[in-house]
Amino acid sequence: MKFADLGLSDELLKSVTDAGYDEPTPIQAQAIPSVLMMRDIIGIAQTGTGKTASFVLPMIDILAHGRRRALMPRSLILEPTRELAAQVAENFEKYGKNHDLKMALLIGGVQMGDQVKALSEGVDVLIATPGRLMDLFERGKILLTGCELLVIDEADRMLDMGFIPDIESICAKLPAQRQTLLFSATMPPPIKKLSDRFLSNPKSIEV
Ligand code: AMP
Repeated sequence: MKFADLGLSDELLKSVTDAGYDEPTPIQAQAIPSVLMMRDIIGIAQTGTGKTASFVLPMIDILAHGRRRALMPRSLILEPTRELAAQVAENFEKYGKNHDLKMALLIGGVQMGDQVKALSEGVDVLIATPGRLMDLFERGKILLTGCELLVIDEADRMLDMGFIPDIESICAKLPAQRQTLLFSATMPPPIKKLSDRFLSNPKSIEV
């Protein structure tokens, strides 16, 4: 399988070449075409398998179309920790350098004022930890009704950290008509239950 066979735009293929990648990893080869076809995905993959690019690359192509609206992020990526959120943001910067996409990080330990200002300018990709996102939501600083693409990354770590109730209430605030991608290294019963409830006819990929 080659990157050129996955349905990514020429611009994105250039970013992949610039990143020095020759071939897609198994999770990328299986996930990227399905994400581009707007399917829901359950990806059972560990860190180190290239799973971040398996959602970041097709998301950039999807988000390259459409318009930003203030306070209404167009997509949301949930990460269990600040460090992981920051890594995903770096991936967006690396692969999205040829695209005019606005990204915002909502993580604890950072001044809320700057985060609210970023939201008010319109955001294509919001990368957040559940606690800070809920906090801003409860203060009325963010609307999730325009968010048509959701990524729940590292779902089993979210479970270990007690974030499942927050994730459930975040999912309930997003439009029902949306694309949802869930990644987890393992599939314990609470994560299976979460995916049964919030994903629609997902394609399961295990690497
Ligand atoms: P991840 O599993 O997303 O944390 O990625 C692990 C590492 O693999 C990162 O350092 C990526 O830059 C790298 N990587 C991702 N995709 C590829 C690829 N197709 N070929 C080579 N390295 C890659």
